[in-house]
Amino acid sequence: MCIILQLGIFVVLAKEPTSASQPLGGSASIIYTLVVNNEDAAKHTAHVRLVVNEPTGSSLTITFDRQGALLGGPYPISIKDLRASNEKGDKLWTSQYSDQGWPSWTVSTQNARTVTVEYDVVLDYYWKAIDAYLGYLGPSFMMSIGLWTFLVPSGFSKRPVIANFSLPTGWDAYAPWDRQNGTWHAPSVEYFVTSTFALGTFRVITRHIADTDVSIVVYDKWAASMQEEIADASFRIFEYYATMVFTKPPIGKYMAIYAPGTDDGKDIGQCEWSQSQGISVVQQFVTGHMENYAHRVFHIWNNFPPTGMQAGTTEGDWSWWATEGIAIYYNNRALVDLGYLKGNEPLRDDVDRYLREFLGTKNDVPVTQAFKLWDISTDAYFFVTYRKGALVSLLMDALTRKVTNENKTLDDLMRTLYERHGGMKGVYTNKDMIRLLNSITGFDFTPFFNKYVYGKDRLPLKLVPGDLAVDWPELLRALKLSRFPIMTLTLSDSFPKVGQTVRMTAQLVTIYSKPIVNQTITFYLNSTLIGSTTTDQSGLATLTFKVEVNRGTYQVVANYAGSPLFSGTKESAALTVLPMEVTVTATAGPTSTTQVVTETGVLPVQMTWLQVYWPYLVLALVVAAIAIVLLARKFTALK
Ligand SMILES: [Zn+2]
Repeated sequence: MCIILQLGIFVVLAKEPTSASQPLGGSASIIYTLVVNNEDAAKHTAHVRLVVNEPTGSSLTITFDRQGALLGGPYPISIKDLRASNEKGDKLWTSQYSDQGWPSWTVSTQNARTVTVEYDVVLDYYWKAIDAYLGYLGPSFMMSIGLWTFLVPSGFSKRPVIANFSLPTGWDAYAPWDRQNGTWHAPSVEYFVTSTFALGTFRVITRHIADTDVSIVVYDKWAASMQEEIADASFRIFEYYATMVFTKPPIGKYMAIYAPGTDDGKDIGQCEWSQSQGISVVQQFVTGHMENYAHRVFHIWNNFPPTGMQAGTTEGDWSWWATEGIAIYYNNRALVDLGYLKGNEPLRDDVDRYLREFLGTKNDVPVTQAFKLWDISTDAYFFVTYRKGALVSLLMDALTRKVTNENKTLDDLMRTLYERHGGMKGVYTNKDMIRLLNSITGFDFTPFFNKYVYGKDRLPLKLVPGDLAVDWPELLRALKLSRFPIMTLTLSDSFPKVGQTVRMTAQLVTIYSKPIVNQTITFYLNSTLIGSTTTDQSGLATLTFKVEVNRGTYQVVANYAGSPLFSGTKESAALTVLPMEVTVTATAGPTSTTQVVTETGVLPVQMTWLQVYWPYLVLALVVAAIAIVLLARKFTALK
């Protein structure tokens, strides 16, 4: 899965290198023409012509747009045969130089009214670090972000763009720009070059979601069922962010292009910005693609210009972990909430790795200091920023829900943060997050940040089969949140048969393990009230329940409404009711909630015919065997 390589303090959105000496010209459009033919496409080569009307000054700088720094640039993308001419076709003097690794050209304009620059771009740069190409052109298609294909004239980033494509027969162009009579229009150079576009044969499926026209572009040669599966998942994920997490998308148009893999079976990476993204589907469309897509959609609000908000990338207050960590957390949570992931397996793997490889090692640094790992291990840098950052975000979400009795979530933080910092308004700091969380929840998040954001205390998370879980006793104790009781729920039998009885025991204790006595616990089976009882001297409330319901899996919920001293809480456990005649040997004994819940994922809840009837089958086989032996004896005797 490809994620943008923001190197935090190492890259900053640079100003246009020569903008000071080169004031904006008029409003005449910058005109691009991209020419692709079959023969050159096989060699990954496209021809680009760039026309700058009304250039100002005596020279023009042609270079890669510096917005590419946000995607980890500069990259060694091959530009060949760059040459320039004036409106009369006279050749203009050019000279190439490198500006901090960015290949750049000075064109001596000599009072030209129009400067035409032509060059070939070879889109075959494979970047090993992310195992992907940065833009790709092959015999059957092209996909790239404009940044790697279209050089820009410095100082003209606000000028409108007109683009034309000359393509092989049957190919078309797909981009988040406006098309009028075969010509494309983009509002500005900066918008144009940060757009992902594709060339070839694709199918466009568009849906209007919360004021945004979302276009999903899928490769035309894929099966229609796969195209629709991709579009459906993409629309649902966009809607999740646009209507549930945030209020309204800050863009009128969004495009996601799903292209095939490259000719050697690789991905095409670094195609992402606020208006569009490109994803490679090498074989099957899987949840990994959805995570990647969801991650980038989240960045419309939390990262990409001009709509996003910016995190701090200075050493003193490095909040960049929240750009990537929260994005990773959400791109998992969205898939769980939408039913594409059953448990939170990807983050579970991160907890596992955190515990095994990071905790207590020199790479175990606070998320606000992940940038210090860059020179030691880029892998460790990415793990702490993205993955540990996601685990911290999960804890932040869980704690927000807990202390507000599920009335607020991390979404409230994101919305409020976006109201203040969306559209590149300033930079949000770690302290901004603390302040907003405090005002949203009425609780002080400073201790949480001191331990798990600025500090490197062991994250209170635990592994459960197929998922991860917050270790509430540990977290509440660590933060001394004594108002919040800890409840456990155990069932005497998680797999009872119809007619049997099950003892349901809830225990209510303080974070210091002291029983909370004489409190009412109410039990529900799904949403049906089945009884209530009060806690004894040990904090135990037990309800005996006769199973008189149909077979199936139910949710047992123990609810504590709270008291003047303690907040309310609830716990749940799965109860699988089996038909009367079934025998199950693997009955779960008294276990905590989480264990019961996860064991249902391991044990066969749906019994197969063979599992249910095997005793009868064995009996039938034994009878048959005896009959055969008897018959055989008779037969021998007859002989
Ligand atoms: Zn990202």
